[in-house]
Amino acid sequence: MSNSNPRFDVAVIGGGAAGMMAAGRAAERGASVVLLDKNNQLGVKLLITGKGRCNITQAEFDNQQLIEQYGRQGRFLLPSLSSFGVREAINFFEGSRVPVKIERGQRVFPVSDRAADVRNALVRYLEKGGVTVRLNTVVQGINHQEDRITAVKTAGKPITAEKYILCSGGQSYPATGSDGQGFAWLREIGHQVISLRPGLVPVRVKEDWVKDAQGLSLKNVEVSLYKDGHKIETRFGEALFTHFGLSGPIILDLSKRVGELLSSGKLQLFIDLKPALSFEQLDDRVQRDFLKYRNREFKNSLTDLLPRALIQPLIELSGIMPEKQANSVSRAERHRLVRLLKGLELTVIGLSGYDKAIITCGGVDLKEVNPRTMGSRLYSNLYFAGEILDIDGPTGGYNLQMCWSTGFLAGESASAS
Ligand SMILES: Cc1cc2nc3c(=O)[nH]c(=O)nc-3n(C[C@H](O)[C@H](O)[C@H](O)COP(=O)(O)OP(=O)(O)OC[C@H]3O[C@@H](n4cnc5c(N)ncnc54)[C@H](O)[C@@H]3O)c2cc1C
Repeated sequence: MSNSNPRFDVAVIGGGAAGMMAAGRAAERGASVVLLDKNNQLGVKLLITGKGRCNITQAEFDNQQLIEQYGRQGRFLLPSLSSFGVREAINFFEGSRVPVKIERGQRVFPVSDRAADVRNALVRYLEKGGVTVRLNTVVQGINHQEDRITAVKTAGKPITAEKYILCSGGQSYPATGSDGQGFAWLREIGHQVISLRPGLVPVRVKEDWVKDAQGLSLKNVEVSLYKDGHKIETRFGEALFTHFGLSGPIILDLSKRVGELLSSGKLQLFIDLKPALSFEQLDDRVQRDFLKYRNREFKNSLTDLLPRALIQPLIELSGIMPEKQANSVSRAERHRLVRLLKGLELTVIGLSGYDKAIITCGGVDLKEVNPRTMGSRLYSNLYFAGEILDIDGPTGGYNLQMCWSTGFLAGESASAS
């Protein structure tokens, strides 16, 4: 028996969402494929997506509408979405025993609410195509000669193939295996890597009182980002208090702008706790509560209005004597309270790090990648897919859809003879 390494048609580095899709598609097209991952199982990050439920994609079937959510870089995705878009992603999983459902915000989840089912569907895809999976294989770099990649360096023998697809992900949640090594290899071989930073990440604030509210999730609130007193952006939806600040879908989505503006001025977040009510309507509502609880102290009159965890901080911020009778609160004091409810102010001091970031912003410069093939413009047999690319979307399934689309197209292109 020969102990020399087999030479594959396609070697895929990274067995995450993008790598599994790329390897599966290349194998489906008849290529002999090897998939390398450092972990002892595939799709480790996939397993923790959507709090273990995996928000597979976003039910937006119009590609023009969809790409707008990826910002300036969105157009890059048009060819890959045309080959494998939202409809195809849903059909792929439903066809592999993973029925899906659409939830609030057009978020698509498996009916089972189990991210493991999504991962296992991809594993079955790999098995069906006969992909050779090498787990516990730490890639150390890539070799090249002129404009061709010649091998993947590992602790053992180098792995060689005709074509290579790099899907080593970003550098967020490094414990899942994605620690940004791929970016270093790319820089070494002359690819541009656009500045990396944590994306979709919780925001840290100055106010200490948030600790008292940690764990509190506010469902239908409106959060506005201000820079030097000017409103920049507003989001409506769910926010979550943490011991250092704010998280939750709308905060994660705002974090991109926060990151861009952080060093350019004073940033504040204002939470409108009652966005459905105007100032006057809310004032009426508070008056009614004060009337209802007229014999209670002010501190005990807010139970209908606010979640328990916010009552104490709001009392302190209002400056109203907690022991004052509710029916003795003055009009000016009440207006102060209403202003707080319509704009609870928090001062931004920074973002959390990669350990808490859902994605990594930045990555391989898209100018150096052909969007019709996902091929490198510098190396004739190198392709990319997934988070390693300089493109990202908001929460809601956009980032995984990007992995399915670019992974599929990279697998398709690399398997073309
Ligand atoms: C907590 C959390 C929740 C999320 N929830 C959602 C969600 O619900 N919906 C959504 O759309 N997106 C979600 N995301 C984002 C989404 O998970 C990523 O965009 C996606 O996983 C990126 O896939 P990828 O294949 O590009 O990279 P990864 O999934 O990071 O895979 C890269 C793989 O490469 C391997 N690798 C890296 N370096 C090496 C090396 N040197 N040698 C060998 N192998 C290596 C890693 O082990 C890893 O398995 C979430 C992210 C996080 C962190």
